[in-house]
Amino acid sequence: MPIRQLPETVIDRIAAGEVVERPASVVKELVENALDAGATRIEIATAGGGKTLLRITDDGCGIAPEELPLAVRRHCTSKLSDDLFDIRTLGFRGEALPSIASVARLTLRSRPAGAEAAHEIAVWNGAVEAPRPAALSRGTVVEVRDLFQAVPARLKFLKSERAEAGAITEIVRRIALAFPAVRFELTGPDRSPLVLEAGGIEARMAAILGADFAGNAIALDASREGVRLTGHVGLPTFNRGNALHQFAYVNGRPVRDKMLASALRAAYADVMARDRHPVAVLFIEIDPADVDVNVHPAKADVRFRDGGLVRGLLIGAIRQALSGAGIRPDTSGAS
Ligand code: ADP
Ligand code: MG
Repeated sequence: MPIRQLPETVIDRIAAGEVVERPASVVKELVENALDAGATRIEIATAGGGKTLLRITDDGCGIAPEELPLAVRRHCTSKLSDDLFDIRTLGFRGEALPSIASVARLTLRSRPAGAEAAHEIAVWNGAVEAPRPAALSRGTVVEVRDLFQAVPARLKFLKSERAEAGAITEIVRRIALAFPAVRFELTGPDRSPLVLEAGGIEARMAAILGADFAGNAIALDASREGVRLTGHVGLPTFNRGNALHQFAYVNGRPVRDKMLASALRAAYADVMARDRHPVAVLFIEIDPADVDVNVHPAKADVRFRDGGLVRGLLIGAIRQALSGAGIRPDTSGAS
């Protein structure tokens, strides 16, 4: 067989497979875009577990009509100049919108502040229409319909509508915890509404982790060599049967990281049974140059330049907080 270049549509779908795994990953990317646009209110509407419809509405900076076609073009971004080691936004790869557009029907409607009118474009099967006038008072609305309808292999791997709707709720809760000043509203015929009013971190934590968390948690605030750790960890008695109640963020970005999870386990090793898991909200602020978020297209994995430093900070701060609260291995009742 001769070597030949793959068609653009195939290249797009391969790339899309890494960014868009399921409806919840679309929601993650679109909510991140709204946050990067400085939104203070974000509405997420879903139907059919996100397979039929996802609509994300924000009051952010908007997109100029002439830039709408660029927003859905691969590797086009307003967020990254040329330094991969100085990323201060949630997005930076210019891949989300084109990836979504390659596996769904995408409509992008936007009106930047001060613009005379809103415009919209629709993308379907790689074809981008010219922007046309639309009705919208401000901000951006992204509508995604029929996700994976054109990619049956992918569609087959999705779970039930109920499970996909649940995964969307989970990702919204996870992101919302790091942005308490932003109002989130998640609605749709496939769910009971989730409304998170704008406020402080205490109120947001109560909304996400339950009103009883604050009374059973210790605040963290520690720094080491320019890395700062804040957040709350639950008392050993406030434990859970799984690690789903552990939320970790690096510079506001929700991350899943083995090292952080293992540091948490180590910090509680002496005061909690092995099969139980602490509840924790960990915010790590670090110089963007000291952490690589470009490990995977979904941007949920991170690599710290000095992992040992972060691990030490975490274990030290949590152990100190626990012992400050009078929790010692011999008095904890851990089995
Ligand atoms: P990235 O977020 O990595 O830049 P995306 O494909 O997610 O890539 O978005 C492409 C561009 O479209 C963004 O850089 C931004 O300029 C614009 N954009 C996308 N969503 C929004 C939004 N909700 N509000 C304002 N601009 C947006
Ligand atoms: Mg993005």
